[in-house]
Amino acid sequence: MTTAIDRRTLSASGFCFIEEERFAEYLGRKSDPGAVRDIIAKSLAKAPLEPDETAVLLRADDPDLVAEIYAAARQLKRDVYGNRIVLFAPLYVGSHCRNDCLYCAFRISNQEVVRHTLGPDELTAQVESLLRHGHKRLILVFGEHPAYSPEFIANCVERVYAVRVERGEIRRVNINAAPLDQAGFRVVKAAGIGTYQVFQETYHRGTYAAMHPRETSKGDYLWRLDSPARAIEAGCDDVGIGALFGLYDWRFEVLGLVAHSRHLQKHLGVGPHTISFPRLCPALGVDIKSDYAVSDEQLKRVVAVLRLSVPYTGLILTARENPEIRRELMAFGVSQIDAGSRIELGGYSDVQKDQQFDREQFQLGDLRSLDVVIGELIRDGYVPSFCTACYRAGRTGEHFMEFAIPGFIQNLCTPNALATLQEYLCDYGSEETRKAGAKRIEEELARFPEGARKQELVDRLRRIRETGSRDLYF
Ligand code: SF4
Ligand code: SF4
Repeated sequence: MTTAIDRRTLSASGFCFIEEERFAEYLGRKSDPGAVRDIIAKSLAKAPLEPDETAVLLRADDPDLVAEIYAAARQLKRDVYGNRIVLFAPLYVGSHCRNDCLYCAFRISNQEVVRHTLGPDELTAQVESLLRHGHKRLILVFGEHPAYSPEFIANCVERVYAVRVERGEIRRVNINAAPLDQAGFRVVKAAGIGTYQVFQETYHRGTYAAMHPRETSKGDYLWRLDSPARAIEAGCDDVGIGALFGLYDWRFEVLGLVAHSRHLQKHLGVGPHTISFPRLCPALGVDIKSDYAVSDEQLKRVVAVLRLSVPYTGLILTARENPEIRRELMAFGVSQIDAGSRIELGGYSDVQKDQQFDREQFQLGDLRSLDVVIGELIRDGYVPSFCTACYRAGRTGEHFMEFAIPGFIQNLCTPNALATLQEYLCDYGSEETRKAGAKRIEEELARFPEGARKQELVDRLRRIRETGSRDLYF
């Protein structure tokens, strides 16, 4: 174990911006219907909220006001994101870890879990299996261990990009890995990562200390809190942040996420690309008695309030949640989900009927196949998307925001979503999904404004179907 963190490598803005006393004061104020409505109006004008404004939405308890918050979140989601949902899959690379986080099956003191790191051939086999199902976007997940150095992570990323199965290729590789220093971030950036994702787990210092023994590298709250800023400074300008809901008061964690987003925007000029809000869930050898369990209704509020607080940040809902709650939450602001996920090491090429609890970090709630999830999304009125265009066209970080804020998203996202859906239907869709998908594409085209962009889109969809063209993006 190590605590040898060189604090000189903190980012230029490496200070603690989580103001616990202020958060407590914000959450203790009385709810005022006029203030709630003013803040909803600000959100609907697509302005990001400050933590004290977010707190007003979190405190509202009048059922009519809560209904207005949900309605506004639905509207904002439609306005900014349309009806597309971006799909990805997680790929666990290694379960070795030197940390001892109380909520995680991979913690060093857990003797029951199988420890393994995918070798190069095993990694390739996993990616081949994912490609055969139609995936285009992956997030590679690593425990925190000296073996998972920046060079090791970079090698894995390059290997994943190189795998091909017929027309299939992974077009965007994101990583979820331990905080690095700037030099380390430069190494993984050079390998072509999309998003660097790191969760603070809890923004509450006392809870953080209780969950992460001080003598471990994860015991340093500020080093972790500062890691997205270091990543941005090192050139990784798409970062994903998150909190593990259920460790502390869910309202406090929402304020932490919003404060973190504002900090990055103000000091680095770019907010987070995505926010995740996983709930604590069962895991092998984990026995946490939490006073802060988050109900389905509270999770719904988390999603709606985050949507309103950070209009241009993607919200990720994972397969930790069961299909029913995923379906319900989708409407309130979620823009990305994983599907067909297996999180046990080696789980994609050797799919077992049941989960293998001794090989995974926690237990999943949604084990449906990618095709089944895509079929459901289409029937529910969404456009499933495998789009990776912005990352590959250089529209990341600040550049991405330039495109996002003036409202170009719909013009880019919808045509790219339809093109990637068309590819999926041609190459991987079941007959039922192909029929439903073809109908959805027709319906979307009927709504698409007439003009040169539509003509080009129609022509590209035809080329994908008839001439085998692939990877056509705006
Ligand atoms: Fe290791 Fe991450 Fe699990 Fe903590 S949460 S024990 S750092 S894998
Ligand atoms: Fe995301 Fe850009 Fe594709 Fe839209 S066009 S889905 S913002 S990558």
